[in-house]
Amino acid sequence: MKHPLNGGVRLVSPVARVLYSVFGRTNPRGWADYHCAPERRGTLWVHCHGPSRRGGANLEFVGVPRELRAAALQLMFALVAQMRGGRKLKVDEDFAAPLSSRQQGFMHIGTLRAAAWSDRHHKGMLRVVDYGEPLQSGFPFRLFAAHIVARAMRADAPERKAAMCRRSLEIFAGDFTDSAYGIGADGGDADITELQNRCNLLAYTGLADALCEQNRHNDACGIIVDAIARCPAWAKGYRDRMSNSGQPENQYTRFWRDADITDIALRRQPDEAPAGTEPCAPVARGGAGFGNRAPDPYDDLLKRG
Ligand SMILES: [Zn+2]
Repeated sequence: MKHPLNGGVRLVSPVARVLYSVFGRTNPRGWADYHCAPERRGTLWVHCHGPSRRGGANLEFVGVPRELRAAALQLMFALVAQMRGGRKLKVDEDFAAPLSSRQQGFMHIGTLRAAAWSDRHHKGMLRVVDYGEPLQSGFPFRLFAAHIVARAMRADAPERKAAMCRRSLEIFAGDFTDSAYGIGADGGDADITELQNRCNLLAYTGLADALCEQNRHNDACGIIVDAIARCPAWAKGYRDRMSNSGQPENQYTRFWRDADITDIALRRQPDEAPAGTEPCAPVARGGAGFGNRAPDPYDDLLKRG
């Protein structure tokens, strides 16, 4: 698969990469060549060259919406860092690692599939897809949604945290699960990694927290209803903990204490999902094109988050 190669595709020039690798060994820009090549449908093919020369694997994301270019590179840096740390990434294997932040409290999970490129530059590349998904599944929206949530947790302003959680929900609104899902074998909560990957739970709880911090308790109640509907078993356990936590009395804590979880789950079914929360479709940005990258509205959020 040939792609153009110029400043719009390369993250850094060959000269700059050498400088990074010699004088800034901890800078991921020196670890590999990163290419963000435009795809026919307006999305990006984000991939790297170089790790395979040192026993690692060259990785790719396909179908990356242009506004998620920075997020794709951050995830790519983290995966290359895993390989530099001795982790072997192999075809048809799953990975689980905290890729966005040491404090994120859950694992990013995904699967690696053999890409089918036959040209010598891209042969042998591994495609990063969502956990357990086939090669053709394309863009790993659960992984990207989890990445943005993990970065949101580090945001210092509730407004920014809320914006990032909303963006995560635009990418992936979360699956609806049945009343048994979310309960571990011992009767306790299921693993938070599982709940995050399946339901994007932390985007809902993070958004509700951020709204409460802004004293927008009513809005927080509206958001948490969507989380309860998706994870009713988790919600029952959470409600019990919330009721006994001694948190200050307000509209949000009262809502939780009085919530009829079963009723909420029955009333909010999958076809009533809130508008605008379908998994994001690749979107071509006006004016964007090869060598003329559109402004990346989430760059700033992700950098500072
Ligand atoms: Zn390339």
